[in-house]
Amino acid sequence: MNVTFACPNCREPNRAFIECDDAPLKCAHCQESSAVPKDAWIGPKLRKCLVCHCDDLFTRKDFPQRLGVALVVIGFVGFVVAHYYYMVALAYGFLLGTAAIDLLLYLCVGEALVCYRCDAHYRGLDEAGGHGGFDLETHERYRQIAARQKQAGIEASAPVVDSTADASGVGSPEADMPKVEVPKMEVPEADSPKDAKEVASGD
Ligand SMILES: [Zn+2]
Ligand SMILES: [Zn+2]
Repeated sequence: MNVTFACPNCREPNRAFIECDDAPLKCAHCQESSAVPKDAWIGPKLRKCLVCHCDDLFTRKDFPQRLGVALVVIGFVGFVVAHYYYMVALAYGFLLGTAAIDLLLYLCVGEALVCYRCDAHYRGLDEAGGHGGFDLETHERYRQIAARQKQAGIEASAPVVDSTADASGVGSPEADMPKVEVPKMEVPEADSPKDAKEVASGD
């Protein structure tokens, strides 16, 4: 199985090949590795993200988006140009041809398992692990958590206590997030009172 992920420590993109076992994912840039949760695998099925340990994953067609967009652009430009020169058959040939290639590619590509929280992509899995397709509501929930974390000046991978979540934390996406120490900000001493004292004692 191939995994593409952003290292939670250094944020660098990584691509790794792993087996369905307890081998941890290791960052090729900073060598940081995190232990695989015990319940991450159920047989060949991946239940939890190996990067952030989130169990909200979804399956989607592993369609190369850039290629899809390029085909649409080629089809549209080809249609307009051919139409401009009154080559109607060629114009519709461009439209139908690119649409057919698009459909063929869609049917041929495999599926990828994607983590809602850290966007890690798992390819080449024998089984999708019972995860459903993309759910906008779940995606929105994680997007808002990430936005709040960003607003709080914390790295996207660090946990944030969700004030709207159930007090027990059960069922909330943050419940099983690994705790990350946030370095304390050193606040320089305000020197205005000192200055004021100096001015007062100066005379
Ligand atoms: Zn790293
Ligand atoms: Zn993840």
